[in-house]
Parts: sequence; C-alpha cells; structure tokens
Amino acid sequence: MTTYRPQRTLLLNIDGLRPDVFERALQDGKIPNLARLVGGRDWQHGLRFDMVSTAPSITFCCQASIVTAAHPREHGITGNQFFDRFGKVSGEPRHYVYDIGGHRMAFGDTLNVFLNDLASKSINPELPTLYEVAAQHGATSTVIYHMYGRGATHWIKPGIDDWRNFFTLNEALGISSKKYDQTMTAEAIQHLRGGHRPDILMLYYWGLDHTSHIHGPKSQYPYLTETLDPMLGEFLAAYESLGLMEDTLFVIFSDHGQIEVYEDTRHCLQLRFPPLDLGIGYVFKALKRDVLDMPGETRVDCVMSMNGGLAHLYVRPKRRNWQTPPHLQRDILPLATAFWEATTTGRYYNGLFNALDLILVRNTEQDGWYGPYQAYTPQGLIPLQQYLDMRPDLQATDPIHRLEALSSPNSGDILLLSNYAEGYYFSYPYKGVHGGMHPEDSRALLAYGLPCAEGEHVAQLNSTIAAAIEKRCQREGGRQVTLADIAHGIRAAMGWG
Ligand SMILES: [Zn+2]
Repeated sequence: MTTYRPQRTLLLNIDGLRPDVFERALQDGKIPNLARLVGGRDWQHGLRFDMVSTAPSITFCCQASIVTAAHPREHGITGNQFFDRFGKVSGEPRHYVYDIGGHRMAFGDTLNVFLNDLASKSINPELPTLYEVAAQHGATSTVIYHMYGRGATHWIKPGIDDWRNFFTLNEALGISSKKYDQTMTAEAIQHLRGGHRPDILMLYYWGLDHTSHIHGPKSQYPYLTETLDPMLGEFLAAYESLGLMEDTLFVIFSDHGQIEVYEDTRHCLQLRFPPLDLGIGYVFKALKRDVLDMPGETRVDCVMSMNGGLAHLYVRPKRRNWQTPPHLQRDILPLATAFWEATTTGRYYNGLFNALDLILVRNTEQDGWYGPYQAYTPQGLIPLQQYLDMRPDLQATDPIHRLEALSSPNSGDILLLSNYAEGYYFSYPYKGVHGGMHPEDSRALLAYGLPCAEGEHVAQLNSTIAAAIEKRCQREGGRQVTLADIAHGIRAAMGWG
C-alpha cells in the first residue's frame, strides 16, 4: 500500500484565536466554511491537537516557531520586543520592537518588518523555513501578508496604506480588522487567478487578534462567526472554482489566545518618558541603573522588552559589555529583589504593587546562556517545579518545557510575569492581551483537515501526522504539542521528513 500524500497544503493562520472559541462556534454550527474543512462538528475529515503557544505567547515569537518548526531558543525571536545582546542581526547589540503601538521609541522597526523584511531577516539564518524546506523538495510556496516570508517563491506583503489603516482606522466601528483581512484575502484570490498554484499557501488573518485586543476576547466569537468564516467562504469558492480543493491539506491554527484585562493606564505597566512619570523606570532610578527609556540611547545597562504578560529584563554587568554573563549576586539579584519589593509593598513605584505574579532569574555565570530559570524569593532561588508546587494559585500551561524552550542569549536575565488575575500586563491599554503562560493566552488551535479525501486517506494521513508529532514531543522531554510542531506535521504529511 502506498502512503497517501496530499498535493498541496493551505495554511489558515488565524492570529489570536482561542481554541475554545473555535470549538464553541463549530459545535454551534456557526462556522460552516471552517467546519467543512475538518468534516463537521464531529471531525470526520480532520484531526485536532491541544496545542500550547510559545513563552512568551506573543505573535512575532510564535510565528517564528510556526515557520521554522523550531523553539524560541533556536530561532532567536523571543518576543515582539527582544534584545539581541550578541548583535547577531546587525552586528551591534540592539533592541528590536516589531509590534505596533507597543513602544513609540522604535517605530522604524515596525515599518521595517514589511519594508525591509526586518523580522524575517532576524530569524536565525541556520534554520530553514517551511518554504525553504518545500523548495528543497521542488515545491513552490506563496506567503500572503505574513511577517516571515524567507525562502517563499512569492511573498505578498501588505502595502504601507493597508498597514497604516489597520492600526489607525476606527476599530470601534469594526472596520479596520475586517478591511485588512479582506484585502489579504483578495490578494490571495488574485494571485491564484493569475495562474499561480503554490504547493504551500500561507494566508495570515491578523484581524481577529486586533479586534480582540481592542474589544476583549468576547469579541472573538462574533468576529469568527460573522466576519472571518464568511470571508473564508468566499475564498474557498474561488479556490474550488480553480479545481484546487481535491487533495489539499488544510491546516487551521492560531498562535496564542487572549485573556481579558483592564484597559486603563494603571494596569498597563510601562517605562514612561523621563522627566515625567517614569513608570517602571522608578525601580531602575532607585538602583542607579540606566534603563533604555529614551529613543536612540545606546549606553544603557538595562533593557526591558515588553511582551504583554511577560517582560524580559536584560542586564549588562557593570563595566563589562553585553556579551559578558551577568553576575548573579552583583547584577541580577538587586534588581530581582527590587521588583519583589515593588510588587509586594509598592516600594520604588506604587504602580507595581500587586502587579507581578512571578519573578524568574537564571544564573548565567554558572549555567550558561541556555540555563534554567528559577523562581526568585527573598529566601533564595527555588527550582521552578518546586516553587510551582508551592504556588497552586499560579496558572501556567507546561511552564517548565516552555521556559526551557525560551532560555537563550536573546531571553531576559530576569523574566517578569504580570498578575493577570488582577488585570496587569506590559503593554499599552487594551481589553485583551497575551504573552504570558496562563491557559487563556497560552492555548492555541491546531487542526488538520482533508475535506475532499476518502475516509481511508484521511485516517492514513492523520496517523502519519499524529505519529510524527507525538514522537517529537516524546523525544523532547515529554512536552506538550507546541507551535513548533505545526510545520513538523506538514513535513510529515508531505513526505518531507
Ligand atoms: Zn499573534
């Protein structure tokens, strides 16, 4: 018996979609087009996994894992914001800020994601993208509106006007997300009608995540059912009319979820511009550490990268360069202690009182740049599992494996996890956020579907994909299925092992 192989793969990348929202909409019969791809509410033509996002569960980190099938410690994109202390990207240590509105100090990076392929170029060049793997097997690929297109045969990027409208049109009227996703879909249809037949086609729907940030996670269900699924229906009609449905493997997935928080300046933790309110900057001021808080500063000794539920804090050892491992007692612990005091007593900056859930540090001098994070307590550092056993209030999904997959030169010397239960996060004011390790922002959707294949072929392909993914998870310490497994499953399905 020859193994069944699909002809091509279509990736439906729905940013921010919570798997519980998808499942509810599916069971309610409200997403007929998506339902068709997996064979209805009882999954007759599909296979689903309980998938967990990366830590941090934030877009640029997540999406890099999706296209490389690698973990953050390998691909190097440890957040929407991260610090490249070894200067691997540009030759100089530098802070990268890819998210819109996340940080007004480096808006140029945001524009350069698409103008100069900046994000795509900053992925570890030694790791092949799914598109490069495809090319090695003689397969073509098209990427629509995604930030990582390295190696794709065709990479269609949003125009600068689409991009600006997405973030500036009035979302209260519900137009900007819908318009952006519509434009993306129209580009895809036009590409196919122009005669292209990519073996791998990536459609990147960014609108749902955007809507959910602004209106909160409750807006996901109406956006999915009333906007996205009908839009997908139009695309599928075009796809079908071109004769492409047969033998296409559909992969429907998200990169993270979202959790509801308070949309006000008290709960969004930030470094503010001196000399006005310094925000978190007061902690650094008190410790006489110079944190990056002004545009263009180069001679700083601390950098904070704000990633929603998680902030990286990078510390340069005194009178040393960024490549020197910081000293635990002298460089790290004073800052960790200060943040502990701030969250437990309000010392240094009252805005931090009760704002943090967890402070993690690693001992780079002793364990190297890939060493384990441990929990900070005033009594000393505690191995994470042991600490979590003592903190049943902390809700975190597969934290040990995810932090192990993060720890690397580009992750913080200190990690600060915000207190979601009280509605805190590291960002600008939003109703919904992600970035942490909480189940609500960390669970993501992964479904494979073969809507037009015979049952026997569906079963065969499902077992091929499931076996490949389960084997990898076992090999990597019995971890849960992650974003890095999406393309791993595709490679297995296409026979590109
Ligand atoms: Zn995202």
